Amino acid sequence: MCVRSCCQSSCLQWAWRTAFLKHIQRRHQGSHRWTHLGGSTYRAVIFDMGGVLIPSPGRVAAEWEVQNRIPSGTILKALMEGGENGPWMRFMRAEITAEGFLREFGRLCSEMSKTSVPVDSFFSLLTSERVAKQFPVMTEAITQIRAKGLQTAVLSNNFYLPNQKSFLPLDRKQFDVVVESCVEGICKPDPRIYKLCLERLGLQPSESIFLDDLGPNVKAAASLGIHTIKVNDPETAVKELEALLGFTLRLGVPNTQPVRKTMEIPKDSLKKYLKDLLGIQTTGPLELLQFDHGQSNPTYYIRLANRDLVLRKKPPGTLLPSAHAIEREFRIMKALANAGVPVPNVLDLCEDSSVVGTPFYVMEYCPGLIYKDPSLPGLEPSHRRAIYTAMNTVLCKIHSVDPQAVGLEDYGKQGAYIPRQVRTWVKQYRASETSTIPAMERLIEWLPLHLPHQQRTTLVHGDFRLDNLMFHPEKPEVLAVLDWELSTLGDPLIDVAYSCLAHYLPSSFPVLRGQASSAHAEQTGKLTEFVSNLAWDFAVKEGFRVFKEMPFKNPLTRSCHTWARSQSQWYPIGTRSYSSVPEASPAHASRGGLVISPESLSPPVRELYHRLKRFMEQHVYPAEPELQSHQASAARWSPSPLIEDLKEKAKAEGLWNLFLPLEADPEKKYGAGLTNVEYAHLCELMGTSLYAPEICNCSAPDTGNMELLVRYGTEAQKARWLMPLLEGKARSCFAMTEPQVASSDATNIEASIREEDSFYVINGHKWWITGILDPRCQLCAFMGKTDPHAPRHRQQSVLLVPMDTPGIKIIRPLTVYGLEDAPGGHGEVRFEHVHVPKENMVLGPGRGFEIAQGRLGPGRIHHCMRLIGFSERALALMKARVKSRVAFGKPLVEQGTVLADIAQSRVEIEQARLLVLRAAHVMDLAGNKAAALDIAMIKMVAPSMASRVIDRAIQAFGAAGLSSDYPLAQFFTWARALRFADGPDEVHRATVAKLELKHRI
Ligand SMILES: Cc1cc2nc3c(=O)[nH]c(=O)nc-3n(C[C@H](O)[C@H](O)[C@H](O)COP(=O)(O)OP(=O)(O)OC[C@H]3O[C@@H](n4cnc5c(N)ncnc54)[C@H](O)[C@@H]3O)c2cc1C
Repeated sequence: MCVRSCCQSSCLQWAWRTAFLKHIQRRHQGSHRWTHLGGSTYRAVIFDMGGVLIPSPGRVAAEWEVQNRIPSGTILKALMEGGENGPWMRFMRAEITAEGFLREFGRLCSEMSKTSVPVDSFFSLLTSERVAKQFPVMTEAITQIRAKGLQTAVLSNNFYLPNQKSFLPLDRKQFDVVVESCVEGICKPDPRIYKLCLERLGLQPSESIFLDDLGPNVKAAASLGIHTIKVNDPETAVKELEALLGFTLRLGVPNTQPVRKTMEIPKDSLKKYLKDLLGIQTTGPLELLQFDHGQSNPTYYIRLANRDLVLRKKPPGTLLPSAHAIEREFRIMKALANAGVPVPNVLDLCEDSSVVGTPFYVMEYCPGLIYKDPSLPGLEPSHRRAIYTAMNTVLCKIHSVDPQAVGLEDYGKQGAYIPRQVRTWVKQYRASETSTIPAMERLIEWLPLHLPHQQRTTLVHGDFRLDNLMFHPEKPEVLAVLDWELSTLGDPLIDVAYSCLAHYLPSSFPVLRGQASSAHAEQTGKLTEFVSNLAWDFAVKEGFRVFKEMPFKNPLTRSCHTWARSQSQWYPIGTRSYSSVPEASPAHASRGGLVISPESLSPPVRELYHRLKRFMEQHVYPAEPELQSHQASAARWSPSPLIEDLKEKAKAEGLWNLFLPLEADPEKKYGAGLTNVEYAHLCELMGTSLYAPEICNCSAPDTGNMELLVRYGTEAQKARWLMPLLEGKARSCFAMTEPQVASSDATNIEASIREEDSFYVINGHKWWITGILDPRCQLCAFMGKTDPHAPRHRQQSVLLVPMDTPGIKIIRPLTVYGLEDAPGGHGEVRFEHVHVPKENMVLGPGRGFEIAQGRLGPGRIHHCMRLIGFSERALALMKARVKSRVAFGKPLVEQGTVLADIAQSRVEIEQARLLVLRAAHVMDLAGNKAAALDIAMIKMVAPSMASRVIDRAIQAFGAAGLSSDYPLAQFFTWARALRFADGPDEVHRATVAKLELKHRI
């Protein structure tokens, strides 16, 4: 058994080493130069600059795009744009100046990303001292190459800075030859520039090795007979170069640098201490270097009398409470050494600050490899998997240690670890906060309310990430787990979650590359904001999970002939017979009745209702004054940041996209999968505030348009429009009504949709288009005529028109009793020769009427549901007001007319609610078409009922009721407008009368 495992491990080691060599060989396959391994024939190494000696523009761009919220890849795409004749290459050949380049480049980036891109800021970062620094591993390599008598050169596609100097953040003395494209007017991969470089070196192609990160540049060099290395990662490239040259390119201790001025420690007292500790007599020097990562607690490499040691100390200055506890690190490493967890061998803890200025401990130096970039560039997928498997294995070992057995039972508090962690993070964040980060504020509120229950208590590392592990140089094995500063007793899941973080952050992210503490404060702020937004996305996903986990209901199947009308317990209408009302099967009947009170909803929906209620009370009602004043301010045509913030909160509570009926979305792919009746109760509650529907992404006209896309959209249309609408990132409008024709009769509309090559061209004049002024509005569902000669209801079509299509001219915002309803507004707009790709047609030409009917399906009664909410809120406000005001010697509430008004309002609300619920119920049972009468009846009833109830409340309030101090005036305005906006009352009355005459016996 033992023999076998030894065998296995040496096989693995062999396989690992062979695989690495094979990897290098494969890269040089086909190149006879590989046979030169041994090095004698090479006389020079030629380096590209960006991506080889300093970070590449692509890498800098990735970090910058994340921080500036620019779509990822924009910069790189724009740099490549136009190839040889694009602005970047012309800039490299000095055919345009930096100013000219930035102008053209900025325009390109903005066109590509459809947002303004501050390229100046990218350019400053790219050329800044902070970023444009030579990789230490390359500095070491160049020193070694020159020490062996070989020449070195830089061959770079480079540019002139605005000060007319070329951008060369390198020490020229390191190179025998420097060839820059901007000086020569020739760029790689043009062979002439390689030849020029060789000429200046005085060498034949086969005598040199060329390193570049770009494939075409490498290929061009190889075709001239130069040996090449394609650089993905400087460290791996240096290893490949070592293999080619046949000598080492590493100077000393990896990942170290000379001790920085501010981090110096007194060598004499340290030497004395170490001599005592180790019991050695030496007069030799004490060599001291500083590790360039692990900066939370400064860490030093020490060499004294052939002993390689590491010293780790607290940083100087004022420290955050409970941070930098190196004493704990020492204690846990000492304890774990005997428990099978690979840790460095610790020697001593010195709490006497007089030795090096702060307490510290000393351990033995453990030589090995630290992978700083979690994406493990340059390694084969199987190697990457092996490294991460080793990382997971060691984490399991840590979590399997019995704290009591190793004397660490008191190493941390027992239980409630995650709540404590969250409290600590909040405290630490507040202690170093410089500006408000909205996502962080939301997290601070959300996290304590949604914490997982702790499953187990184990030792936790607390900062478990790849670059805190020392790996064996030749096999995927962890030699030592470093940096135990945050270790404690807690929930092991925290280590798992933290180690997964690398998967979600860009690999250039400074925290992952061990640079966090060296970043500027401004930079750190941006990074914190980025991580907060990322974390908030998880909170939002959690919100979606909540409603996805609600019990699955099959959509109700419909049957129009088996409903035993007279037996229906929810339909107590005696012998009245409406043949438009479908009949329900006993199966339907047993499935549950018409739920007239939220308390009778099924438990998960009832819970959702109460969650919404709490959300309204905690977040929505208190925000109303601020939202109202935003709508009255000069900034009103821009979305209120508070609305955006509340939208995020609603998402995280699962109070999002509740409107899509189960019947339209049976697999609950897009929404909460509520029935119309269930939604009626929630929608009424949202209706008690004018702002809640948008906050919960349940507002018109988006709801209708989303339903249109779910029901009729192609997959491509859904991907382009539905997803951003469901996420609340975009808004939309529906354009049907026209000023010159009576639009309550949709067959009157005149706007034309004409075919022209692969486009439809639209021309028309529309008005009352709700939401079209909103800057977030990206989609207009446009109704026009494709064939004026077809039968009346087959003439119209619906096209999806991107709002940035040329030819859409907004003429003015219309007002409703003086209200603008910003930022969406209601616009008058002309469409002049607007070209729309043919694939934007919905369902096909001539299907517009059908779509408009479908769109107005459930959406038709959402307004009615909300109107019940308006009315309830108005009545509640009225009751509170009349109880508190005294006129003519007694409270208003004691006046008979006031009492009569209250009673009348209550009765009217209850009547209308029952009719809304009935319509919703019939829609659930029999479908929208069969519910036509119920829909028409409630549309006839709800807006005027609400107008009357709100009007009574306004009257009871006195003049205040007309002001914007209360929502009553706005409620009244919308209730009145809804007597048109959802089709005029008369049209609904005509429908009811028609059906009554047709079907009533
Ligand atoms: C706040 C608001 C938002 C709106 N949003 C949108 C939108 O986003 N997109 C959009 O396309 N449109 C929108 N509209 C327009 C709305 O749909 C139309 O106003 C409505 O369809 C009526 O059309 P019309 O204004 O052309 O009135 P007309 O068709 O000219 O009707 C005028 C009047 O004629 C009478 N009438 C009409 N038909 C009959 C009948 N059969 N029997 C008896 N009398 C009748 C009624 O009294 C009616 O009010 C909105 C309107 C408002 C007020």
